Amino acid sequence: MSKPKVAFYWCASCGGCEETVVDLAEDILKVVDAVDIALWPVALDFKKKDVEAWAPGEVTVAFINGSVRLSEQLEWVRLLREKCPIVVAFGACAHLGGIPGLANATTRERILENKYFNAPTLDNPDGLQPLTACTVYGCDLELPEFWKDVKPLDEVIEVDYYLPGCPPPAKTVMSAVTAILEGTLPPKGAVLSPAKALCEACPLNNTKPETLSISEFKRVATSTPDPGQCFLAQGYICMGPATRAGCGERCIRANMPCRGCFGPAPGARDIGGKMLGALGSLGAADTEETSMVLADTLVDLVGTLYRFNLPASLLKRQYTSGTGVPPVM
Ligand code: SF4
Ligand code: SF4
Repeated sequence: MSKPKVAFYWCASCGGCEETVVDLAEDILKVVDAVDIALWPVALDFKKKDVEAWAPGEVTVAFINGSVRLSEQLEWVRLLREKCPIVVAFGACAHLGGIPGLANATTRERILENKYFNAPTLDNPDGLQPLTACTVYGCDLELPEFWKDVKPLDEVIEVDYYLPGCPPPAKTVMSAVTAILEGTLPPKGAVLSPAKALCEACPLNNTKPETLSISEFKRVATSTPDPGQCFLAQGYICMGPATRAGCGERCIRANMPCRGCFGPAPGARDIGGKMLGALGSLGAADTEETSMVLADTLVDLVGTLYRFNLPASLLKRQYTSGTGVPPVM
C-alpha cells in the first residue's frame, strides 16, 4: 500500500519551523517511514509545475509555515489548498503573522524608502526600486507584488488546523503527524495544543502571589530575573496569563519571560488587549507620579504585547491617517 504524502511549504518566515522538522531527530525516520514527502523546498528540489501536476487529494496534508505578504505566496498557498484535503498553519507566522507581522507596525512605503533610499549601507545612485514587471536586455521579467500588509494564513485560504509556536516544538509536530496518520485529529479549526493558559502549566506558578502589585516594569535587556520567582511578580512582562500552553514552558525554563508565541489562551481573542487589561489592574499606580513611573518603564508596547500576533489581532496593522480604512492586498 502506498504511503500518505505530505507537503511542507514556506512563505514569509525565518526557516525555524523547518528546523523543527529536522529537530524531530530519530523521530524523523518514523515520519519518513510512514509518509512520502512530496514537497519540501528548503531541502528538496521541487518546482511549482510538480505541484500543479498533483491530482486533488493525492497529497494528504500541507504544512504551511510563514505569513503571507507576496502575491507569489498567495499563488502557492491557493495551489496547495486546492490540492490537499488538510492544510495546517505551521508555526506562529502562519498562525498569527509572527515576527514578520511586526512590519504591520509601519507602512510598505516606509519599508521601501528605508531599504532603497535610507539604509546606511546602501549603494543605489540611480534610485532603483523593485518593479513587478520590467524588461532587461529584451527579456520580460516579473517580480511578485509586495502587499501593503502581512497576513496570517487563514486570511487568504481556509485553514484546517493550527500548530502554534515559534517554532512549534518537535513533540507537538510528531503528535500532529501521528494524529493525521491514525485519523484521530480533533474537529477542524482546532489549535493542536492544550486548551489552557501557560500560567497553569508554569513551574513558577506556585510563586505567583494571589494579588500582584507592580511599581515598575523591568526588562531582561537591563536586569536579570530571579529564576525561582514568577516573572510577572518581579515586574517583568510575562505573557503567560494570556498565552496558550503546550510549549513545554521553554522560555520560563531558560529564565526568560514568555513572549506569547503560542498565541491567545482559550477565551482571549486579542492577546495584547487581554495582557494590557491584566497589567492595568496589576500596576501600583495610585498617584500621578507612580503612574508616570509605570508608563515610562512600559517600553515598546507593540513589540511586547503583539510580538507574534499583530496581523491576527484586533488592531491588525498601523492605519495611516486619512480615511482610516484598512488597505487591502
Ligand atoms: S506569569 Fe509567567 S512566570 Fe508567572 S506563572 Fe505565569 S507563565 Fe509563569
Ligand atoms: S514560553 Fe511563551 S514565548 Fe516561550 S516558547 Fe512558550 S509560548 Fe512561546
